Amino acid sequence: MNLILFGPPAAGKGTQAKRLTAERGYVQLSTGDMLRAARKSGSELGNKVAAIMDGGSLVSDEIVIELIEDALAQNKGAPGFIFDGFPRTVAQAEALDAMLAKHGQQIDCVIRLEVDPQQLMNRIAKRFAEEGRADDNPDAYKVRLDAYFAQTAPLVPYYEQQRKIRSVDGMADVETVARAIAAAIDAR
Ligand code: AMP
Repeated sequence: MNLILFGPPAAGKGTQAKRLTAERGYVQLSTGDMLRAARKSGSELGNKVAAIMDGGSLVSDEIVIELIEDALAQNKGAPGFIFDGFPRTVAQAEALDAMLAKHGQQIDCVIRLEVDPQQLMNRIAKRFAEEGRADDNPDAYKVRLDAYFAQTAPLVPYYEQQRKIRSVDGMADVETVARAIAAAIDAR
């Protein structure tokens, strides 16, 4: 089972991915987490992407595609993958389809978390106060949201054409969202 958790930044993708990992043993592949780990390690890649991430823009397709390619190779035989924060452009989605096909696999389901952008601004302001992530400051978050609408939202028709999208109300509480996601996965 390979699924994509889809939605704007701060929609709750990471939280739900971690639950699915704990409950079903799927491997979470979060390009945001991978990039933050690269920064923390002080690697060349980490230094290269730091300013772009802090400003809220997307890093290049090449960088994240390579990260995912490596992660897939390192986790051969996993019972499933949860793609969290990837793909974020049509080029990334096409590359992902090609990579999975090489392993004889495909995306089975795209869970779309439907959220209210205004309420997300409030959610992210709270996370900024609690965790202090630079790209959660209101200016950077606005850039991230704009990037989502300009570059990532076109993935909705891409996956609708493949009939893979299942929509879930992402504004409900964490438990309710988790139940709705489980039902969507089990109904396929
Ligand atoms: P996230 O934690 O998923 O919101 O990602 C944090 C930041 O990492 C994003 O604002 C981008 O700068 C970068 N990033 C993460 N995933 C991607 C991706 N798939 N494509 C481009 N940039 C990404």
